[in-house]
Amino acid sequence: MGLDGAWAIAWMQASAEVVAEHRVELITLDREIGDGDHGENLDRGFSAIVPKLADQPADASPADILKLAATTLISTVGGASGPLYGTALLKASIAVSGSTELDADGVVAMLTAAHDGVVLRGKAESGDKTMVDAWTPAVDAAVAAAASGATPAGVLDAAATAALEGAVATEPLVARKGRASYLGERAIGHRDPGAQSTAYLLRAAATAAEAAA
Ligand code: ADP
Ligand code: MG
Repeated sequence: MGLDGAWAIAWMQASAEVVAEHRVELITLDREIGDGDHGENLDRGFSAIVPKLADQPADASPADILKLAATTLISTVGGASGPLYGTALLKASIAVSGSTELDADGVVAMLTAAHDGVVLRGKAESGDKTMVDAWTPAVDAAVAAAASGATPAGVLDAAATAALEGAVATEPLVARKGRASYLGERAIGHRDPGAQSTAYLLRAAATAAEAAA
């Protein structure tokens, strides 16, 4: 079964829940190598998305919901992560516009566009200790899962697992982008907060897809 607008709504609701649940953890991660606002930034942004979801028409497409989420994040989150996630979701929305349901290839197209949006906006490369280090393995895993015949939910599950592995793998890195880059070697031993939140958001997408299947 493809993933429709109701799935996208469930994804955004699950994202708001997971961000609220891990708010303090994301704040703590960002306090260690940034300014301590990452959990607060995302909680503010996703909390602003949730009430708007109720106003969406029953035939809203995944692209409609992703665009609503993108514009809300861009307008409510002041930190770097607002424009980064906003651009990711906006590019994802454009990539799947016109589809009422996403199949496995549609999910790959959506994730690829989101990754490309983050890179376009932030100019970070793999290994710079940013959320790109979660998005890149997530897309690679999604491509491989779709090629081996996974369902849309299976593709998202593979992406979320790889994103978490990517987040864990940021720990030994020195940061080359964002606030953590000011710390030099002192960033070593700390996980990048944006990579961790990317893993949570993709896990929320997979959980919503499993529930829809
Ligand atoms: P701010 O850094 O403005 O306080 P947040 O704390 O909300 O914003 O977000 C920090 C996260 O944003 C970092 O952990 C990192 O993952 C991500 N980030 C910062 N700069 C970049 C960039 N240039 N490219 C990709 N991701 C970035
Ligand atoms: Mg911060």
